[in-house]
Amino acid sequence: MNEARVGLVIEDDQDIRELVRAVLTQAGFDVSVAASGTEGVLAARSLNPDVITLDLGLPDIDGFEVSRQIREFSDAYIVMLTARAEELDTLIGLESGADDYLTKPFRPRELRARIAAMMRRPRSGPDVVEEASAGEQPAAAGTGHYNHNGLDLTYASRSVSVDGQELNLTRTEFELLYALLEAGRTVRTKSDLVRRLRDEDYDVGSYISEADERSVEVHMGNLRKKLGDSPQQPRWLQTVRGVGYRLAPAER
Ligand code: CA
Repeated sequence: MNEARVGLVIEDDQDIRELVRAVLTQAGFDVSVAASGTEGVLAARSLNPDVITLDLGLPDIDGFEVSRQIREFSDAYIVMLTARAEELDTLIGLESGADDYLTKPFRPRELRARIAAMMRRPRSGPDVVEEASAGEQPAAAGTGHYNHNGLDLTYASRSVSVDGQELNLTRTEFELLYALLEAGRTVRTKSDLVRRLRDEDYDVGSYISEADERSVEVHMGNLRKKLGDSPQQPRWLQTVRGVGYRLAPAER
């Protein structure tokens, strides 16, 4: 854990690049930068970063494609940086595997907070699990292990399998799935889930936009695809229309 965390900034605008580099450096990252998409994908492959900030509008290949390519080999936490006019495109960005987005101009502390929230969740380690020991979970509460309708999740190793087959989830997808398993049949609203991803104390009275809620829908859609779950007859992810999500009932 003493190994420095690695950050990668993919951004063609030099001012923003240096700003983001400064924010990440302050947060304790070893930072590398790339000024184009192609360069960014190469750097991601060789550096294996923990965090990547990704500009949507790059001179060679766009941020969507960059994200898609990086996702083929990396589970880095990817934050997309988009111009306001591109906010809707953001959702496509999340479909391409990014975890979160920030609209330019953004406040440095906002970026710092998002990254800190994600980094507080270890890739492995049981300490966060303690808060989950409430009781009436589908299986083995407090151990960070859940088993529900053939889906198996172990927090400490951050592993998920369905009918014995290992799945490869992003951190965000894992966190959402974990939140639903933890809540059991209790509905989690979309804003609940946004706050969960950002850590509740990230910003007191934090404003959750419609786009933030839509982003949860996109992540859920991605998660559903990976699980092979059906929205109509869910084994795991049940949509509660207009409200949020909860765990589907146990199969008999
Ligand atoms: Ca740009």
